[in-house]
Amino acid sequence: MRRMNFTDTQVATSETARGINRGIVLNLIRRRQPISRADLARASGLQRSTVSLITEQLIREKWVIYGSTGRLPRGCRPTFLQLNDRRAILVVDLRPSLTTIAVSDVNGRFLSKQEVPTPADPVTAADVFSTKIRHLIDSHSELVFEGIGISVPGRFDERHQRVLFAPNLKWPEFDLRGPLEKATGLPVDMENAANACVLAEVWFGQADLVRDIAVVTISEGVGVGIFCGGRLVVGSNGMAGELGHIPIDPGGPKCGCGASGCWEVYASNWAALRYYKETSPAGSDFTFKEVLALAEKGDASARNALERQAQAIGRGMRMIVAALSPEEIVFVGEFTRLWDSLGELIVAEVEAAVLVGKPPRVRPAAAEPSMARLRGTVALVLQKHFGPSAAAGKSKLMEAQFMEATL
Ligand SMILES: [Zn+2]
Repeated sequence: MRRMNFTDTQVATSETARGINRGIVLNLIRRRQPISRADLARASGLQRSTVSLITEQLIREKWVIYGSTGRLPRGCRPTFLQLNDRRAILVVDLRPSLTTIAVSDVNGRFLSKQEVPTPADPVTAADVFSTKIRHLIDSHSELVFEGIGISVPGRFDERHQRVLFAPNLKWPEFDLRGPLEKATGLPVDMENAANACVLAEVWFGQADLVRDIAVVTISEGVGVGIFCGGRLVVGSNGMAGELGHIPIDPGGPKCGCGASGCWEVYASNWAALRYYKETSPAGSDFTFKEVLALAEKGDASARNALERQAQAIGRGMRMIVAALSPEEIVFVGEFTRLWDSLGELIVAEVEAAVLVGKPPRVRPAAAEPSMARLRGTVALVLQKHFGPSAAAGKSKLMEAQFMEATL
């Protein structure tokens, strides 16, 4: 594209272009920090004067700070910029039995982390969480908190501000956001756990240049997070991706959603425990972690239970490949510790599901499950400031250059 020489005043007249350019610069600093303004201009393709205007604003807003001063051969000393790691986010990973509450800086580094038993109802939960959060805010007076991100084992309806569907949590439809915002004075963002894992991959993982990715989370349930064309897919009411509740055998075991034989009753960690119980009489008191440990030690019943789970996970891949045909499928779950033996069962099913062309890449997530959900909720809060998708870097860059050139 031919670059045209317009002035930055004209760029600044467009809120949209300015917002996109700001997001690009902020994301480049995040990924390549410490970085000089000259390198920012080179990497973004934006004019140096545009980069200077944006970085000055980011420094005024305290998103960015001066880092080390580099030295070039001819004595010129560029100033390097980095994110201000005193800006922090509170994150909550709400799970059916245990909830993790943590403090992270803007770079996704966790400064503190604690677990609390998940309360039996949403009213008590709002009370318990807000007390813990207020305590964390008080004990980190050096930090400026941007907001609270919550990963939920259900679907969040943005329009009605409620968690709509959380069959494994066994809470009624609830509003956790309102009471928490009131108690802490901070904005609260909520997202489904599988969607949080997608954001974690796109922001902090290996998927920063992938535009079509499905993340499958295997825990008490089975969730699918979809990132399509560089955007998170949530659907009209936040329910997109509930493939775990497609019945694959209507005569099968009862599912938490009320239906029978859903994919998740065959592919979740609870399913693996059921398989284990069937062959091992003492199996009823085991946790999934214990069955994993037994399999790692070579216990035949435990291995068999996990292989049955992996085959069931693999069979569900047919729905994902047929519906989305993604470039990449990423798995989040404790079972990925045994990926060397279980992964091939899943890959075989993915390959069998492809009718034409190259099969999607299949891999376990870069982070373990709890870390993936927590990092995803950090990204959830940050994306309001950094732009909706850090991954759509390439297309956004072209868009921004186009705007810079045409304004
Ligand atoms: Zn179901």
